[in-house]
Amino acid sequence: SGLVVAMDGPSGSGKSSASRGVARALGLRYLDTGAMYRAVTWWMLDQGVDPADQDAVADRCREPRLEISTDPDAPGISVDGTDVSGPIRTQEVTRAVSAVSAVPDVRRRLVDLQRQIIGPGDIVVEGRDIGTVVAPDAPLKIYLTASADARALRRTAELTGTSTREQRAEMARRDALDSTRKTDPLAMAADAVELDTTPLDLDEVIAEVLRLVKE
Ligand code: C5P
Repeated sequence: SGLVVAMDGPSGSGKSSASRGVARALGLRYLDTGAMYRAVTWWMLDQGVDPADQDAVADRCREPRLEISTDPDAPGISVDGTDVSGPIRTQEVTRAVSAVSAVPDVRRRLVDLQRQIIGPGDIVVEGRDIGTVVAPDAPLKIYLTASADARALRRTAELTGTSTREQRAEMARRDALDSTRKTDPLAMAADAVELDTTPLDLDEVIAEVLRLVKE
């Protein structure tokens, strides 16, 4: 079966751009698992479900039908036929996604879906728990890190109407929520290669991952 590259790490580590670049360079598919958690969160908010109500979120998390593109040149996600690629990136969704993704039924459903999409491989998979939970047999696992300042700067550049200081606080809040769970999705797999992207630009990160693939 084909290659699976697991790319884990916190927000702002440069995961998305690097994962897409690696997939493009190797002619592989690309899966953004964070977009799936965001899409379920968008749907909960759209339905008026309180993201903090774990039972309600668990009860309803199988309802939205998700379709996600695995083309690194045209990533996108839809819920029940509506393209939500833009709406899943709003502050409202970003603030609620940690609570929704902490619900075990949500994780069970999305991990199943992710494994179906990964199927025979030939894919770069980006997330938090890919090397530990979703694809523990992946032959190459990268764990991207970056300093808090570098991560906040990158996030601020991506968003509008926010300051670096605000972003730094928001990311610290989300990381704390994401990593105090039982199945700590931010944990690094024992066999992952840690790559600190702080001093690197995007092309250098991609080149380093390609070097690891060829090793
Ligand atoms: O990668 P991104 O920042 O878009 O992920 C959004 C959120 O989705 C994370 O903060 C985390 O709560 C959740 N997530 C997760 N497991 C993954 C990917 C994302 O719990 N594999």
